Amino acid sequence: MPCPLCAAPDTRAYTVLPTRTPADIVMLCAACIHDATHADPLDAARLGLLRDAIWSEDAGVQVLAWRSLRRLSEHAWATDLLEQVWLDEAVSAWAEAGLPAPTETDAPTVPTLDSNGTPLAEGDAVTLIKDLDVKGAGFTAKRGTLVKNIHLTDDPGLVEGRVSGMVIVLKTDFLKRA
Ligand SMILES: [Zn+2]
Repeated sequence: MPCPLCAAPDTRAYTVLPTRTPADIVMLCAACIHDATHADPLDAARLGLLRDAIWSEDAGVQVLAWRSLRRLSEHAWATDLLEQVWLDEAVSAWAEAGLPAPTETDAPTVPTLDSNGTPLAEGDAVTLIKDLDVKGAGFTAKRGTLVKNIHLTDDPGLVEGRVSGMVIVLKTDFLKRA
């Protein structure tokens, strides 16, 4: 399935944050995962499907589209769309809660910690401490699954790891250093 925000063909599972239960997994391209986890300016020209995605019946896709439109508020078409769309209260609160924080260049580096507060480093191995329903990909990553060679992200609450052959973004609250 192509990326719901930009139609790029190569997608992987992304957990829409902040995580709800069960987790909302959306198949996104690498560029859109980058945009969802970094506060850099968005390239409106790349995000050609936002006009459709904002009406998606998949709440995860809708929330990501809504956040993208908010970040494109210098464009009249984006603010017009935001005025037209109606999100239910829970989805709206969820969308707001996940807007990426503005980049603060002088902010101290926050360490990435596992669920026990143990620091995680690039390349560490971790185990999942709860079942993770990877809905978009149709499988459940079981509690106890070992994920080797994790990759840290700019967000101390998130790491990337390969589960069942697929690179997914994992919340550090659900991990324990192996
Ligand atoms: Zn994309």
